[in-house]
Amino acid sequence: MNPRRVHVLKSATEGRGPVLYWMHRDFRAADNWGLTRARLEALRLGRPVAAVFCLAPSFGAATAAHFDFLLQGLEETEAALRRDGIPLFTLRGEPGKEVAAFARAHDAALVVTDFDPLRAKQDWIGDLLSESVQPVLEVDSRNIVPARVATDRREYMAKTIRPRIRRQLHEFLDDFPALPPHPHPWPGGMSPADIAGLRAGLRAASPARQEFLVRPGEAAGRALLDDFLDHRLRGYLDRNDPNRDVCSNLSAHLHFGMISAQRVALEIMGRKLSGEHVDSFLEELIVRRELSDNFCLHTPDYDRESGFPAWARETLHRHRKDPRPAVYSPEELEGARTHDPLWNAAQTQMVRCGKMHGYLRMYWAKKILEWSPSAGDALHAAILLNDRYSLDGRDSNGYTGIAWSIGGVHDRGWTERPVFGKIRYMNLAGARRKFDVDRFVRSWLPGPDAPPTRP
Ligand SMILES: Cc1cc2nc3c(=O)[nH]c(=O)nc-3n(C[C@H](O)[C@H](O)[C@H](O)COP(=O)(O)OP(=O)(O)OC[C@H]3O[C@@H](n4cnc5c(N)ncnc54)[C@H](O)[C@@H]3O)c2cc1C
Repeated sequence: MNPRRVHVLKSATEGRGPVLYWMHRDFRAADNWGLTRARLEALRLGRPVAAVFCLAPSFGAATAAHFDFLLQGLEETEAALRRDGIPLFTLRGEPGKEVAAFARAHDAALVVTDFDPLRAKQDWIGDLLSESVQPVLEVDSRNIVPARVATDRREYMAKTIRPRIRRQLHEFLDDFPALPPHPHPWPGGMSPADIAGLRAGLRAASPARQEFLVRPGEAAGRALLDDFLDHRLRGYLDRNDPNRDVCSNLSAHLHFGMISAQRVALEIMGRKLSGEHVDSFLEELIVRRELSDNFCLHTPDYDRESGFPAWARETLHRHRKDPRPAVYSPEELEGARTHDPLWNAAQTQMVRCGKMHGYLRMYWAKKILEWSPSAGDALHAAILLNDRYSLDGRDSNGYTGIAWSIGGVHDRGWTERPVFGKIRYMNLAGARRKFDVDRFVRSWLPGPDAPPTRP
């Protein structure tokens, strides 16, 4: 595999035990560069290899339903790993510390782990680095062109990262090697991990009963991809119409790493699919998605106003005292109790099925800016709602999408107007020009629940 995917986090003397792969972002047995690297290292050393997962007591606003989705998928991944002679060990507690203790207890040769720029993950990895004694390698298996390689700086727009990604795509868009079952068995044999026990012990609260659109796991992700490529991709140019079912719905699987974006791109190439609709899908899957990891990697305050570009901070500050057309409390927003039926319908869609249509996500976040006492309050409310209710939330795409909508990240200044200043504005009339708003509202707020009036 391409060694430029690997980033050495810690150099040390290798232990005499197995190679460990700590899985915390890319929850899959197939098409996983981190696991591949761990297996190749174990083959080089003639040692067993194991995967390790640690259930943290909490993860941002993730709910029990999100953890359960992850763990259900992990059951399938564990069975696939076991078929390849690789045990999966499950731990509980502070992940970096627990994994370091596990590595020390087994005198692990080295630890390979996933790349993730989010603060919580960086803290976990910091714990691993300070408490482990063996080498630690980070492998970027989320991005096709690894985020640390694509560019060494924060890119300010899609148009600045696009040529860098395109230039390096041919180097990194290679197929995954097929490895034989691991020949060096785990000492004492393998027993199945107690994932059911972890699921039974989930404590994080779930604020609402949600019926997710998609089922967890690698097989379900693969089936979703096939269905999208067979039936929906051809309509992708209509992706901004929330009444049309033409998007991939892959975001939850991509978020949990249950499918590899690289596999998605390879499958499109393998099927020789082409056209404007394909280019536009690949732009979202590769350029926009990798731009999000770039933003979070190079912006430590990716979820705070200080992460906005200077022009956006300045314009929002200048308009901070502008009267708002309405101000809603976090509870009113959460309960979809605003005067705007489209916003209420979008919020209801997210709460009920764990996913809001991508076009509406922009509208939704911009209206939160318009109806909040300050940009900081808006940012906080949008992140909390997105992370709590979206199956694909707690993701660099979410922090970046919200920072784009509220704080002009990766955007330019537009005509100045109240509250927004030069931040791009969206309104109901514009949405009506794009799609049948009433139809969308009726499908999520049928009957007398739909509040139709303006303030
Ligand atoms: C306010 C706001 C919040 C968002 N929150 C999230 C989030 O929490 N998690 C999340 O994964 N995406 C988020 N997005 C980005 C985008 O809306 C979703 O990725 C997309 O709607 C997911 O649906 P899909 O898989 O059917 O997308 P498709 O249109 O089928 O796209 C395929 C994949 O490309 C990627 N992608 C698509 N659009 C974008 C984009 N604008 N930026 C980065 N990557 C993109 C995603 O990984 C997506 O799954 C957010 C966008 C905004 C404006």
